[in-house]
Amino acid sequence: MATGRFVNNMSVAIFGGTFNPVHNGHLRIATELAELLDVDNLRMIPCALPAHREQPNATAEQRLEMLRLGIGENTRLLADDIELGRDGPTYTIDTLREIRMQIDDSTPLYLCIGMDVLATLDSWRDWQKLTDYCHLVVSSRPEYQIPETGPLAEWIKPRLCDDLHQLKQSSTGKLHLCNLTMLAISSTAIRDKISNSEAINFLTPAAVVNCIQQQHLYE
Ligand code: ATP
Repeated sequence: MATGRFVNNMSVAIFGGTFNPVHNGHLRIATELAELLDVDNLRMIPCALPAHREQPNATAEQRLEMLRLGIGENTRLLADDIELGRDGPTYTIDTLREIRMQIDDSTPLYLCIGMDVLATLDSWRDWQKLTDYCHLVVSSRPEYQIPETGPLAEWIKPRLCDDLHQLKQSSTGKLHLCNLTMLAISSTAIRDKISNSEAINFLTPAAVVNCIQQQHLYE
């Protein structure tokens, strides 16, 4: 990854995903997160080789291309290819370490995830160390609840921080839950629709729809 990507001391927010393909649920939530966290832009990071998921049937490059098309002219969002140059499975902890090496220790770094992702966080590599490098910002998602029992729930509790101002005053260590616009759209539903020859218009931007059709993805 190019050095100097983060050239100032502004807070940094990242939002990882498979983006297979990106959809309006991702784009809406990412836009609201950028506003809420008061960052110049939110970096959307497609993973290269999902460590915990079946291999997607669009390549990493195609997912990145769709992400760029989906973001379009929205200057609040950026497609970041930081994980695509890495060999083997990608782990978020490595991405956080890489970004931390480029920004000041005192700069807030926000890792934005959905509640569905929080529920399985304890399957991630070095999950207990994630908040050594960043804050976690968790957006609710239809049908997913915060874990209430077990080691993950115990890990979450002392980190919970309702006060956004307090969150912004420190650079790492807290977990903030936020209620943003939840659109009941998933990439799985989009892939299923395509394989059933159903229209996907308005679930993802028109430029992404065109790209999927031109490259015959997910058919
Ligand atoms: P799939 O259906 O293939 O599992 P997905 O739609 O869940 O995909 P991902 O790329 O896995 O999309 O998600 C990346 C991030 O976006 C995750 O943190 C997830 O919680 C969040 N996210 C996905 N869909 C939505 C949505 N409709 N609203 C809010 N957040 C979402």
